[in-house]
Amino acid sequence: MTTIKTSNLGFPRIGANREWKKSLEAFWRKDKDVNDFLQEMDTRLKINIGKQKELDLIPVSDFTFYDHVLDTAVMFNWIPKRFRHITDPLSLYFAMARGTDDAVSCEMTKWFNTNYHYIVPEYDEETEYKLTENKPLAAYRKVKEEFGIDSKPVVLGIYSFVTLAKGYNDEEKGQIYNKLLPLYIQLLKELEAEGVTWVQIDEPALVAADNADVQAVKSLYEQIKSELTSVKILLQTYFDSVDEYKELITYPVDGIGLDFVHDKGKNFDSLKTHGFPVDKVLAAGILDGRSIWKADLEERLDFIQSLAGELDIAEFWIQPSSSLLHLPVEKHPDEHLDEELLNGLSFATDKLSELNLLKKGLISGKTSIQEEIKQSQNDLNILRQYAETGNREEGTQKELFHRELPFEERLTLQQNSLKLPLLPTTTIGSFPQTTEVRKARLKWRKKEWSDQEYESFIKAEIKRWIDIQEEIGLDVLVHGEFERTDMVEFFGEKLSGFAFTKYAWVQSYGSRCVRPPIIYGDVAFTEEMTVKETVYAQSLTSKKVKGMLTGPVTILNWSFPRYDLPKKEIAFQIARALKKEVEALEKAGITIIQVDEPALREGLPLKESDWNEYLTWAAEAFRLSTSSVEPTTQIHTHMCYSHFEDIVDTINDLDADVITIEHSRSHGELVNYLKNEPYEKGLGLGVYDIHSPRVPSVQEMIDIIDDALTVCPTDRFWINPDCGLKTRQQKETVASLKNMVDAAKQARKTASVQV
Ligand code: GLN
Ligand code: ZN
Repeated sequence: MTTIKTSNLGFPRIGANREWKKSLEAFWRKDKDVNDFLQEMDTRLKINIGKQKELDLIPVSDFTFYDHVLDTAVMFNWIPKRFRHITDPLSLYFAMARGTDDAVSCEMTKWFNTNYHYIVPEYDEETEYKLTENKPLAAYRKVKEEFGIDSKPVVLGIYSFVTLAKGYNDEEKGQIYNKLLPLYIQLLKELEAEGVTWVQIDEPALVAADNADVQAVKSLYEQIKSELTSVKILLQTYFDSVDEYKELITYPVDGIGLDFVHDKGKNFDSLKTHGFPVDKVLAAGILDGRSIWKADLEERLDFIQSLAGELDIAEFWIQPSSSLLHLPVEKHPDEHLDEELLNGLSFATDKLSELNLLKKGLISGKTSIQEEIKQSQNDLNILRQYAETGNREEGTQKELFHRELPFEERLTLQQNSLKLPLLPTTTIGSFPQTTEVRKARLKWRKKEWSDQEYESFIKAEIKRWIDIQEEIGLDVLVHGEFERTDMVEFFGEKLSGFAFTKYAWVQSYGSRCVRPPIIYGDVAFTEEMTVKETVYAQSLTSKKVKGMLTGPVTILNWSFPRYDLPKKEIAFQIARALKKEVEALEKAGITIIQVDEPALREGLPLKESDWNEYLTWAAEAFRLSTSSVEPTTQIHTHMCYSHFEDIVDTINDLDADVITIEHSRSHGELVNYLKNEPYEKGLGLGVYDIHSPRVPSVQEMIDIIDDALTVCPTDRFWINPDCGLKTRQQKETVASLKNMVDAAKQARKTASVQV
């Protein structure tokens, strides 16, 4: 008889009402002293454990004060030089995360293919390896004391930790492993001495590892294992299938965790082909840890049974496919969604209830959960009907994926009709979202202000900034995006098929939480979204005003997608809706239209072998939304991303007339790249960093422009900041843009000689 257990990989830290965030921020503001703060964090930990109490295996030390990768770095004493003088551990920890007056914070980047961001560990040759604290042990003890539970500490594995870190080259890797290994062993031995039964070692990076790496890492685990006696290791992978499955199952560990949801069926295929070791536990990720949707319990039960049918093992765990970090904690009692939608949702705590039901079904038979099965299917059926908004815009055979004329011909036509100066200046779209702007929106949302009052406020703000832009002397103006809270929410609210929650927060990074829109139904155009503001702005000036939209891929990547359509289909639906907006803008006389795709690169699949498929449809979606315009209409796009290299083909493939891209912080990397791989279309390399209030000098921007012009054709080069200016203040924005325009004027003098 196989023993069936339920397990979890990690739980959201933030609390159902973002209590965790609030404690942290109060502590940072010094509104809370350290003792109160630590006590509140303990409470948060205990509440999280309490919510998982029903499970057989409960993860600990996934909980953190900021980020679990930062925890691991600090635990192994990977402290960048610039912070080493800080003696107080908590101050040091937060300094690395958030920076200090004299030291910039550590870099932050996306956690695999999710929208969670982790702190990148920094290595240098002087890093002194030691175990500063056994954090999993401390967490284990706390939970043991409070609940008497033998919980399952979670540790970020050696391979994934090193893979996620920076500051070393390939030759140094071996040495880093060798030095880290004793620390891992010490940490695990201490857990063993404490009586811990299972440790979950997270190795998500193994899913995409090649055979050589998987072999090399195996020897690390052999060394680890040889030092341990009683504590058991579960090697946990997630977010995709394991390419080197055959090798992985030979690891000297006691259990292996596999994702059977985001694996495109490959893990199951591998298991069928190569079997699964009889002496190991299989921890099977069978509920989507990243999907907000309820599971069809019968379908899942059948799946688990077919999986179990392939196994001959003593113990079998069922669990979510990944940590539940990426989901809201639970449905809020005051959530204002329609019942039909609400009942189809499953957040972190609901996932755990689903797990428990599945266990019951496995042990006592399907009939024992017959009621619940019916309920889940019923809820999903109702959701399906609810999602039928009647707004489906089917694709047609004749859909346009290409502009009528090739770029070079469009360029000439556009230059003749737009009549812009050489090296035109522009901005990326948003101007400062001041407290007044936010207050105004709040008043309007609370119905303290009528539509009319709000509209006239927005108009006044647009007018004010059109005047400012004219005064500064910019060439292509924008309306400023004052009516938008957020570049996805604004469009989602006007398109069909989207829902917005009040309380469904998820952690983006540190204390920052977001409420991603939910795409539940067919996305379609219902009304003009940006025409009114853009046309108004255009009516105030003889300069060109650029229309401003968020692109289909970004809208998709920053939302929770529906579960019953492939992402490509959803992206195409959004693209068709945006196409109508693009056409409406064009019809209203707007001849420059920017479609932002800052999140395009974020959607890249984990494995490079899957990139092409994604990038192909991503570019198609963009072109579907932008290709129907006249050749004289200039399409811009924008990305806040400077590593051009890996997606340059896609950037080209978008066939935008102009792309503006972040550049100022990349230390000339991009220019170096362009030296060998020239980019032929319109290009605006950001000439100043918008992340800081600092006003850049004219000369430093001239230097950047001159440098760029050594590799970019002058007749299609644009001058603009790195990104939108919504987080800035008016004062520094105006000063910086004035300097930028001066820099452009000077650059033109030399450039015009060359043309
Ligand atoms: N148009 C947007 C803005 O200026 C672009 C923001 C972004 O790239 N994230 O705010
Ligand atoms: Zn940007």
